[in-house]
Amino acid sequence: MASITFEGNSYRCEEGQSVLDVLLAHGVAAPHSCRSGSCQSCMMRVETGELPESSQAGIKETLRVQGYFLPCICRPGDDLTIVRPDTDTMRLEATVSHVTALSDHVVCVGLSSQTPISYRPGQFINLFKDDATARSYSLASVPDMDGELRLHVRRFANGQVSTWIHEALRPGDRVQLSPPAGDCFYLPGQAEQPLLLIGTGTGLAPLYGIARDALAQGHRGPIHLYHGSREPAGLYLVERLQELAQQYANFRYFPCLSGSEVPDGFLPGRALDLALSHAPELSGWRIYLCGNPDMVKLARKRVFLAGASMREIHSDAFTHQAA
Ligand SMILES: Cc1cc2nc3c(=O)[nH]c(=O)nc-3n(C[C@H](O)[C@H](O)[C@H](O)COP(=O)(O)OP(=O)(O)OC[C@H]3O[C@@H](n4cnc5c(N)ncnc54)[C@H](O)[C@@H]3O)c2cc1C
Repeated sequence: MASITFEGNSYRCEEGQSVLDVLLAHGVAAPHSCRSGSCQSCMMRVETGELPESSQAGIKETLRVQGYFLPCICRPGDDLTIVRPDTDTMRLEATVSHVTALSDHVVCVGLSSQTPISYRPGQFINLFKDDATARSYSLASVPDMDGELRLHVRRFANGQVSTWIHEALRPGDRVQLSPPAGDCFYLPGQAEQPLLLIGTGTGLAPLYGIARDALAQGHRGPIHLYHGSREPAGLYLVERLQELAQQYANFRYFPCLSGSEVPDGFLPGRALDLALSHAPELSGWRIYLCGNPDMVKLARKRVFLAGASMREIHSDAFTHQAA
């Protein structure tokens, strides 16, 4: 059993318990969201003690060497003294420039910052509603084209952060965010490689950023974007993506509907099934999978079985904490 020292208090960490579990059990207001090591919203820094290597999975090297780790997946074998992240490095400030409806359930949030925020389209940030509450949102914008950060946020009934964004956030509001993270972005250097992008719901956000980034960087290979939803209302930016497909011969857009209502111009079926029926052999492709965690998990398996190499599969599962 290890002990965790945090802000002057020491807590026992039972075998198999995560550091985040221990802090929350003692009423510590520690930001967290996915609780599975993907969103990084709970990141803290160790001052003394040895971290399990796995507790730093997915963290940028520059932060890893400073002792940053993810309390939600940290099950320590050693006593640890831990501190909150340094606000200077881990919190950025931005101003809301607009909150624009993209559909009945999705808004685009524009964020501008006096200090430029460096990112790759498709990465994600954590947006803080308050000191203890943050959620991850993917970057749909492309720095040189959009000049601001853009997020696509779906509203969840009773969702703490998404409801706040939809109902309370206004142009001019100052917000805090974490530095961009994640490895779901376009990698230049193989301009002829075919790219397959599959997303559900607001899983379109990173894919929209990645596709436009690839096109802007002169990608010449095919770029196939499948956006899936059950209902027509779940798809958005349809016309914009159709225009993009007209503008670039190598870009194809497939809006897919898995429910019974399938208007003209949409494909009946699930995005993943349709993508694999059009391209059953994926060796040599680079794949991006974003959105619903079940879809992402299944898609990773199926694209691998269809021949895609593991290192060419990039994904962001929009993991969330069950109520
Ligand atoms: C890497 C990453 C990137 C993400 N990118 C985006 C993005 O670009 N756009 C976006 O809209 N969201 C994105 N998400 C999801 C986002 O972080 C939040 O989980 C979501 O906005 C809900 O937060 P909330 O505070 O409103 O809901 P909560 O208060 O956390 O939950 C309220 C209720 O809604 C349910 N719920 C929450 N999220 C989901 C979900 N995804 N599916 C089904 N039920 C859910 C909960 O179980 C609960 O019942 C991303 C998540 C991750 C991990």
